[in-house]
Amino acid sequence: MPLSGTWAEGLISKLFRDIARGIASGLFPDICMSCNEWIEPDRCGVDEPAPTGRFSLEGETPERLFKAVMGRHLCRMCLDAYAPVSPPFCTRCGVQFRSRAVEGHLCGRCITKPVHQGVSGETFISARACGQYSGTLKNTVHAYKYLGKYGLGRPLGTLLHAYYVKHFAEKDIDWVVPVPLHRKKLVARGFDQVTGMLRHWPWTSANGSRFLDNGTALAENLLQRVKHTDTQTGLDRKQRGANVKNAFAVTGAVPVKRKRVLIVDDVYTTGATLEECARALQRAGASEIYVLTLARAM
Ligand SMILES: [Zn+2]
Ligand SMILES: [Zn+2]
Repeated sequence: MPLSGTWAEGLISKLFRDIARGIASGLFPDICMSCNEWIEPDRCGVDEPAPTGRFSLEGETPERLFKAVMGRHLCRMCLDAYAPVSPPFCTRCGVQFRSRAVEGHLCGRCITKPVHQGVSGETFISARACGQYSGTLKNTVHAYKYLGKYGLGRPLGTLLHAYYVKHFAEKDIDWVVPVPLHRKKLVARGFDQVTGMLRHWPWTSANGSRFLDNGTALAENLLQRVKHTDTQTGLDRKQRGANVKNAFAVTGAVPVKRKRVLIVDDVYTTGATLEECARALQRAGASEIYVLTLARAM
């Protein structure tokens, strides 16, 4: 009996699709960006295509959001090892408290340390992050920054945007400002990791500027690194502070006086760099300053 046309065509096209997929995955297997193991389809967190839409934390846990956004780039083990910043944490700097029994409040450092105090009071009002700078997220940031995995800018930027919406979308922010790299470092690294993530936020262009649908705009060149600083790696808190002192200047690319500004960076380590950026913006007259980073060292 002859095979029915549609049934046979369906079977053949499925066969070709499976063969093509098999060849493609054999030639270009997906490698986990955290542990470098091959991602086998049955172990992979998500088989869907890379995310293109907007992702939100509304009605979603940080773990589930992380899997939805990063699933194509990490193996199941690494997806499961992602560590969010769970409450209670310092309401200002976002550091997670070891004791799970207390409500959110200020950490000892934010209460007592004058290092957090600018000339006229505090520098930034609050800092939030998408996850802890450890394990999976640390390895992924490393692959993105130092191993040339530029394609991670898209999922990491998507993740960052979801946390912007959760913590800052309602704050009437005027400018989103990336922490700038010094030109020397930009030349050495070949790309700017923060703007590489911000590029994937849902901006619309108008009059030469980029806006989110709540009116917040991107001010890519508002901050400038005027001092080339040695790497902060291996320095303690005090040394980091001294290393970045007066390293940033406000360029005047857009008005800052009485504006609300969100500074964005990849990692919050001791906060020295972000404090220094905030200080420059504060000197220029910014009224409220906030901080968002992909990861937070605890
Ligand atoms: Zn892995
Ligand atoms: Zn704190």
